[in-house]
Amino acid sequence: MTKYVVVLGSIMSGLGKGILTSSLLKILSNRGLKTLPLKFDGYLNVDCGTMNPYRHGEVFVLKDGTEVDMDFGNYERFLGKDLTGESSLTGGKIFKTIIEKERRGDFLGEDVQFIPHVTDLIKEHVKKYGKGLDVLLIEVGGTVGDIENSYFIEAMRQLSLEEDVLFLQLSYLPEVNGELKTKPTQHSNKLIQSYGIKPSIIVLRASKPPSKSQIEKISLYTNVKPSDIFYDPKVKSIYELPLVLEKQGIFKAIAQKLGLKERKKPNWERWKKLLKNLESPKYKTNIAIIGKYVENPDAYASVKEALVHAGAWLSTEVNIEFVDSESYGTLDKYDGIIIAGGFGKRGIEGKIKAIKEAREKGKPLLGICLGMQLMVVEWARNVLKWRGAHSTEFNPKTKYPVVDILPEQKSIVKKGATMRLGEYVMEIKKGTLLYNIYKKDRVGERHRHRYEINPKYIKELEKSGLRFSAFYKDIPEAVEYPSGKGIGLQAHPELTSKFEKPSKVFLWLVKEARSKK
Ligand code: GLN
Repeated sequence: MTKYVVVLGSIMSGLGKGILTSSLLKILSNRGLKTLPLKFDGYLNVDCGTMNPYRHGEVFVLKDGTEVDMDFGNYERFLGKDLTGESSLTGGKIFKTIIEKERRGDFLGEDVQFIPHVTDLIKEHVKKYGKGLDVLLIEVGGTVGDIENSYFIEAMRQLSLEEDVLFLQLSYLPEVNGELKTKPTQHSNKLIQSYGIKPSIIVLRASKPPSKSQIEKISLYTNVKPSDIFYDPKVKSIYELPLVLEKQGIFKAIAQKLGLKERKKPNWERWKKLLKNLESPKYKTNIAIIGKYVENPDAYASVKEALVHAGAWLSTEVNIEFVDSESYGTLDKYDGIIIAGGFGKRGIEGKIKAIKEAREKGKPLLGICLGMQLMVVEWARNVLKWRGAHSTEFNPKTKYPVVDILPEQKSIVKKGATMRLGEYVMEIKKGTLLYNIYKKDRVGERHRHRYEINPKYIKELEKSGLRFSAFYKDIPEAVEYPSGKGIGLQAHPELTSKFEKPSKVFLWLVKEARSKK
């Protein structure tokens, strides 16, 4: 029988609920337990695809093409597994389904209500998705007390009448004049109890370890035993958290309450080795991520994490700098360059300038999606001297449309989930740099785009030395410089990088760009 752990955030957002959930996934799966995450998000968007990366951070794309938020990236990076769109349940998805059902006549004669119709739908999804697992970890997006997530929490209360459900409260101890304060935790716990839910584990974010008497006080007011209250410190690397919680015995607390038994002894050897490499690396490198959403580095969360993974694997300290494509100076202080993906005209010329500089100086360069498209634009303009060559995304009237809209995209007008999304398997040509990197001729990576390299120009571009090293049918998937120092991918290799299994392309970049400390 599947057991359920529901993670609730209290007091405020930004406490690292996603990292906590990801850490629990790792702690459970490391014991051979079958576990997956499910995330509830109260917003009325059906998915994250139409959200602004400035405000919401990056849009993460799952293998099946579902557009989700950043938390899913962490789930996959910690768990080391690819998730499906079933792992995301949003307010938008639920209401779309409910209204479609109502129009079809599924509820004839009834008035359609939050309870039971919406809550039943949620429970049905939870049970179906959780089938066959040992533990389904459910993260409720937002904070307890929000209107947006209230019907999800109500559905979980109801679920606890039918199944084994453990509620975990993530809370925060603010520091005032050097002292950690427990009152907000007491009050927010009461708020949760007013929903008819009793958390049996509390995890506390705090700037320093809470004292024994503070833990006892929280225990007294919340009815949670001191041994079921855990400390979630600020860690240097997010990948430390599973070990920090493991040491405090969080598995035992969860297992006792749910009657879980580990299927194998946990093995943290590789995880610890990678953390050690992060702590005392032998090499170093400075990498610039050039993009236009740099004011919110969360917009490039997966690119950053993929660099961390490669750095840990290669014992390399990767110093990452986010560089604004509209206002960068020179690339001299960087050892490697990433041109990130993106949409819209702003910052495009800056990215092209940076590509030119990197190409001419022979700096290791990785172009991702838009970055790859602009590598081709730059080459056309500066090597082939095709003046004004461009992507029709930015200049529909260019004389040399070296990047053009995908044919199947031409008739699409709706914006939601209509890009070329998710995994496509590219065929890599033998003898290319990319083949050397992947050591395979068929590789699946995830996509999110509407434009492609215009097949009409491939021959001429190749004649001048640029090489298209991978294709999906006739869509160019990768490009590389004859110097072997630049690679562009139409896909987003950062999305498949895991802590214990880094992306091969990022390993290439870091290896090319690093030097001894
Ligand atoms: N705007 C480009 C396209 O739609 C690139 C998208 C991206 O970088 N994700 O093709």
